[in-house]
Amino acid sequence: MALLTFTDSSRTLQAGKIICLGRNYLEHAKEMKAEIPKEPVLFLKPSTAIIPSGGTIIIPPFSRELHHEVELVALITKAGRKIPRAAAMTYVGGYAVGLDMTLRDVQTEAKKKGLPWTVAKGFDTSAPLSPFVPAAEIPDPHALDISLRINGALRQQSNTRHMIFRLDEIVAYVSSIFTLEPGDVIFTGTPEGVGPAVPGDTIVAEIPGVGRLTNYIASAISDAR
Ligand code: MG
Repeated sequence: MALLTFTDSSRTLQAGKIICLGRNYLEHAKEMKAEIPKEPVLFLKPSTAIIPSGGTIIIPPFSRELHHEVELVALITKAGRKIPRAAAMTYVGGYAVGLDMTLRDVQTEAKKKGLPWTVAKGFDTSAPLSPFVPAAEIPDPHALDISLRINGALRQQSNTRHMIFRLDEIVAYVSSIFTLEPGDVIFTGTPEGVGPAVPGDTIVAEIPGVGRLTNYIASAISDAR
């Protein structure tokens, strides 16, 4: 069971649902040649997908195209459903930097066939997550620089002010569908610049003030015993 930790080691929480937004940055929607959504596009990952900083992301044997997506992640620390937008931020108790690792070839095939994204998005090791900074330390979650480097080369760089749907709106919308519980996390979408990560690569994802992740890429095929 994945345990979520805080940077100030104030407490730990059992990881619950992982709710993710697709296409929440205009420039990313454009690079995917996807429509700009009128309401949040949601998908889920299992909590078993979580790995910590320092962990290795394993590309499953049925994929040849792993993509990186760096995202701001919000932690729910209070239970609620049908949360009004005005109260939404009181349900967010922490922030982390996360990676929504995606098997792009599997996802493209699923999109073509009208099938769910579950395998492409929810495989083991698909959700690297830093420790959480208490929300009180982040006065404005919509003013954070966010970046990702592979082997030192800058691949993604943006700011959370470019989100299409803001966090209060996201929490209100998500809670109108799923009851939220302490330990649930919300991946808020990735900015532009997504691309491949291959075995041997080192990914460093960073949101200054929130966290930094270092993760390694390996292939399940080369690991096969
Ligand atoms: Mg994503």
